[in-house]
Amino acid sequence: MTLLPPNSTEDRLYVLRTRWERYVAEGRFEQFIEFTVAVNTLAEFFNRLRLPGLVRLCEGLENAALAKLGDISTHPLKQQDIVALQRQMDTLLGSVASSRLIPAERRTDEPSTGTPDIDWIKPRSVWMISAPEKRGMADALKRQLQFFGFRIFEIDWGGQHLPEDKPLAVLFIPAHASAEPAEFDCIATIRMSCPASQLFYLGVQAAIEPIVALMRAGIDVTIPAEDQASMVLNCILDLVQTHEQEQYRVLVVEDSRVAVALIQRTLAEHDIDTEAISDPGKLLDALESYRPDLVLMDMYMPRFNGVEATRVLRQMAAYNSLPIVYLSGESDVGMQVEALRLGGDQFLIKPFNPVLLAAVVKTRIERFRETRRSTRLDGLTGLLNHTAAKSRLQAMVGKTEPHGALTVAMIDIDHFKSINDTYGHPVGDQVIRGLAWLLKGRLRSIDLIGRYGGEEFIIALPEVNLQQARSVIERIREDFSALPHAHPGGALYATFSAGVACYPMVDTAAGLTEAADGALLQAKRLGRNRVESAR
Ligand code: GH3
Ligand code: MG
Ligand code: MG
Ligand code: MG
Repeated sequence: MTLLPPNSTEDRLYVLRTRWERYVAEGRFEQFIEFTVAVNTLAEFFNRLRLPGLVRLCEGLENAALAKLGDISTHPLKQQDIVALQRQMDTLLGSVASSRLIPAERRTDEPSTGTPDIDWIKPRSVWMISAPEKRGMADALKRQLQFFGFRIFEIDWGGQHLPEDKPLAVLFIPAHASAEPAEFDCIATIRMSCPASQLFYLGVQAAIEPIVALMRAGIDVTIPAEDQASMVLNCILDLVQTHEQEQYRVLVVEDSRVAVALIQRTLAEHDIDTEAISDPGKLLDALESYRPDLVLMDMYMPRFNGVEATRVLRQMAAYNSLPIVYLSGESDVGMQVEALRLGGDQFLIKPFNPVLLAAVVKTRIERFRETRRSTRLDGLTGLLNHTAAKSRLQAMVGKTEPHGALTVAMIDIDHFKSINDTYGHPVGDQVIRGLAWLLKGRLRSIDLIGRYGGEEFIIALPEVNLQQARSVIERIREDFSALPHAHPGGALYATFSAGVACYPMVDTAAGLTEAADGALLQAKRLGRNRVESAR
């Protein structure tokens, strides 16, 4: 058995298939656990790639497997259970194949690398099925999506003549808020033929019953009537953003080498990186150098016990929210309660159930990272927020050589208040997001992009001089003014003004921001929809 985490869809499917076959042949409990873990891994992989249809199928299979997990005495499973699971496996594998996730001619002798299939896995087409009454909005949405590089195919409600290529998303834009029987048939047909696509239904009533009915027919996301257009683009753009995240890191503090080996093996199966120390005296050094997302802490160790070590960490600002999970042979409830009271997050009993251990570790880390993320990123746009942008700029200025270049720009949407007043706040929000997406699409990953205030953005471009920066921002300004923002009555257009300042003319973060702000004010004075430089 290999401990290397699988990399591509193919690798993961191979692991899943062989584990299932092995279990069917030999019927051992551990093999069933390994199979369940493989299903879970595949579900997470599809989730990261934002393929909700496939995630749903994986989760169905995972739940069915967990329901049959039992213990050593319940395996091998009865033949009828195996047949039922086999059927779900076949459906899943068939859907993956029909979603064309596997490239036709990939050379098999090529070793798979880090993130091989992110690009080709994402279809960039969207199917639209709209009622004639909604022509205006449908057209605006279409142009907006095309602006961001999507191919749009218009389909009729009969669901015939579907394009060969499966779409990323399907948009249903009905005439009325309550779906008609023919619409349900159409949804069901498309759901069947596009299991991996995200299905959107625009303009649903805000009531439970119709939404449940649509979800049963196969809709993934229903969008209420008021803020349809503004939400769709955001949802679709979210879909194409793959959140390739850093590997999870777990520090194992455990003096038993057998326990360490078991833990590391289990977590490696889930693609989680681990480091182990046997001496809790080395804890602070290990935290400092390894920067884990979670600590798995043994209760009984030489010198200090796990509870004492945890109490120390909870007194240090840097670690007071780091998740700590105890692993112990201790089954005394009073003892466990005491350990939690003194700063641990959860208590797992040894010998541990590997499925449970992995689930606990992953959900704790997800939540920890989510909280950390939400304190740095702006909720509406996903860009750095004011505070985070400021400190990032400070760091960038600090790293710039005396003769190096760094250009800072402040960008502010023109007459934004009247957009809000005329079209409503949700449409205003969508204009803000549209600009955020345009900036993300046009700037490099080393550039800073932050939402500095309501409709004000800051960008910083290292190794770019004033002239170069101006021409980049000019182009973005022009494109933004041509970007249609869909609203229920059609499309609106917006513009922005920008002020630019550069290092080393000004050589502090605060100075650069201030100078760029001054230039922005000048751009507003001179009539808006223009870029001005600080002088
Ligand atoms: P100017 O061309 O001079 O920049 O005019 P303006 O109307 O854009 O400037 P002003 O600063 O007067 O108005 C900005 C408005 O932005 C006021 C505020 O209600 C709105 N706003 C701030 N944050 C948000 C947000 O998150 N969403 C929406 N929709 N509006 C916001
Ligand atoms: Mg111990
Ligand atoms: Mg403004
Ligand atoms: Mg403003």
